[in-house]
Amino acid sequence: MLKTFVFLGAPGAGKGTIAELLCAKYGQVHIATGDLLRAEKASGSPLGQQASEYMVKGLLVPDELVVTLLTNKLASPEVKARGFVLDGFPRTLNQAQLLQRELDKDGLKVDLVVLFEVDRDLLLRRLTARRLCKVCGAIHNMMFTPPKVENVCDSCGGALYQRSDDTLETAINRLGVYEQETGPVINWYEQSGQLRRITGALEKHANFAVFCQEYGLE
Ligand code: AMP
Repeated sequence: MLKTFVFLGAPGAGKGTIAELLCAKYGQVHIATGDLLRAEKASGSPLGQQASEYMVKGLLVPDELVVTLLTNKLASPEVKARGFVLDGFPRTLNQAQLLQRELDKDGLKVDLVVLFEVDRDLLLRRLTARRLCKVCGAIHNMMFTPPKVENVCDSCGGALYQRSDDTLETAINRLGVYEQETGPVINWYEQSGQLRRITGALEKHANFAVFCQEYGLE
């Protein structure tokens, strides 16, 4: 059984959505560095305040801020016991090499590195229509999977909101940053023979079914 995953793909490629479904079904810990950073920001910590200056502009947060959060999380006993789905990390070559060193140190390895592929038009449509639940964090999309009741989470009844970096202008910036900074990470995993590619363009349940079938999860 595959236990440890790295999910790569542009913002809006569906990494978080598939990670949610995968972890709900198989019990891994979903580690999304964007979520860790937003939680820091919400807590009002100095790290969160520093990070938010980059996040609102769609820029990458400096490695030293993200890496501390990530290594703390990776070291937790639940991650060791249940495995993990890493979503949104690594985003730079330096982060990829650092992750490799951290995992080697703990005797952990990544079972599967997956790149979710989606064309740019669909990414932008998805990002600008995305809404999150304030209470449980569930991801909704006003265009493709609108909630049954307007602005109310289907899973828990919480209020939905739009991330401040999901506006069109910031989403375009984030895609540019992705191509520039994360492109080398994709090449790195490709050259090491670890990278697998899959479409992220389908509706979420269809995409998850393809994912499970492709990687022998049933
Ligand atoms: P996400 O939720 O993955 O779209 O991330 C939201 C924002 O958090 C990004 O646009 C970055 O500003 C920041 N962020 C998340 N993960 C990382 C990372 N691995 N390295 C640097 N910045 C990150």
